[in-house]
Amino acid sequence: MIALSLAEVAAAVDGRLVAADPASTVTGPVEFDSRKVVTGALFVAFPGEKVDGHDYAAGAIESGAVAVLGTREVSGVPMVLVADALTAMGRLARAVVDRLPELTVIGLTGSSGKTTTKDLIGQLTARLGSTVAPPGSFNNELGHPYTALRAGTDTRYLVMEKGARGVGHVRYLCDVVPPRISVVLNVGTAHIGEFGSAETIALAKGELVEALPPDGLAVLNADDPLVDAMATRTVARVVRYGETAHADVRAVDVTMDERDRAAYTLVTPEGTAPVRLGLTGRHQVSNTLAAAAVARELGMPLAELATALGELKLVSSRRMDVFERPDGVTVIDDSYNANPASMAVALRALASLGRGRRTVAVLGYMAELGPFERDGHAEVGQLAAELGVDRLLVVGEPAAPIHEGATSVGNWGGESVLLTDQAAAIEVLWSELRPGDVVLVKGSRYRTWEVVDALRADAT
Ligand code: ATP
Ligand code: MG
Repeated sequence: MIALSLAEVAAAVDGRLVAADPASTVTGPVEFDSRKVVTGALFVAFPGEKVDGHDYAAGAIESGAVAVLGTREVSGVPMVLVADALTAMGRLARAVVDRLPELTVIGLTGSSGKTTTKDLIGQLTARLGSTVAPPGSFNNELGHPYTALRAGTDTRYLVMEKGARGVGHVRYLCDVVPPRISVVLNVGTAHIGEFGSAETIALAKGELVEALPPDGLAVLNADDPLVDAMATRTVARVVRYGETAHADVRAVDVTMDERDRAAYTLVTPEGTAPVRLGLTGRHQVSNTLAAAAVARELGMPLAELATALGELKLVSSRRMDVFERPDGVTVIDDSYNANPASMAVALRALASLGRGRRTVAVLGYMAELGPFERDGHAEVGQLAAELGVDRLLVVGEPAAPIHEGATSVGNWGGESVLLTDQAAAIEVLWSELRPGDVVLVKGSRYRTWEVVDALRADAT
């Protein structure tokens, strides 16, 4: 963060100083967990139902915080009083990024792959200059300013994931931290329950390119028609990526190796270069092209770009994280979250990684599908069967349509079972797993990862 006096903080957030010296300086970080407070920090106290941050205000000052930003006075504590702490954090983030003219903000949204691609872009920009792109999702009203407030005078690139929960949400996040480069990955059916239709999702995600200034850049996935069409919604220049012929940054001659890692020829206006990815899954072709389109724009030469793409790693946990157990079982941990599109890419990865081996999918409930809940789950089950997954463990009654979808596929040679909970799935795995098996674990949080943790316990 950049150093700001309390007077500047108060002005930025429209706050009132109480028992605080306007000249004292906040050097950062800005924290809302008092255990993370260090000297020079600003502690943000959120009122909560169970835990009220104001109860930790005095402790935060003892740990070195310069002041507390909150909504009510705490006696003896220097405070920046505001009407709403979340809005204030957003305004503070805006004030910080506005004071950093050298900073390029890269925003990205999409239904699937935001965190993954944010991490990939961050690894590429880190080769070009100091980058803030912390692992994890940080894509909402809180995570967004929290991440942006990490930027300091040395920071050249700030890579921000923008989640869209409804129309107007991305617009708000773009007001907090305006992007200069906006990347739209895909429009799927994630959160479709809240939106109603794919078109409404596209409307919401397109706000990311509407927020661009004329000298900005929209990076659009040309393989996704709803994303491709967003070109008309921006005053900024447009660069397209994808496998279709009209993309500016393309992958051609894509091949997959025995570990489901892609190789392709990268085609750019500057020329072509061979790329061999170390990442698992066919979908990483698209994600890495998005990252390549950004890095190229920021001046990375083609040869370096091709090498850098080959060195990319997954840094946020539980996203297509492949590991081997000592007993020769391969586990694909994709347990962070799930929607029908990401279930599909994960199942395809399982099928290709497990070619010639026994494949097991442990699948849980997908949240936020609303009226599409039944069909969304059933389609995933069908796909698992069509891909020839050998054993399906469906975890939890709400996920039952996955089981029904799989068993509805007549000529499927595999077997599905509906289990009550994670513990039951772990029990079945322990009794059935054999050396050489490949296991995919995926669901919408809901502790699906407990299955992975059990499998990881004695793995390397
Ligand atoms: P969230 O909305 O939960 O923050 P996200 O958009 O950040 O999700 P990631 O966490 O990057 O998404 O990825 C979640 C999963 O989505 C991955 O593990 C993978 O299964 C799948 N995925 C990643 N990239 C793509 C893609 N381009 N298309 C479809 N699915 C993808
Ligand atoms: Mg995410």
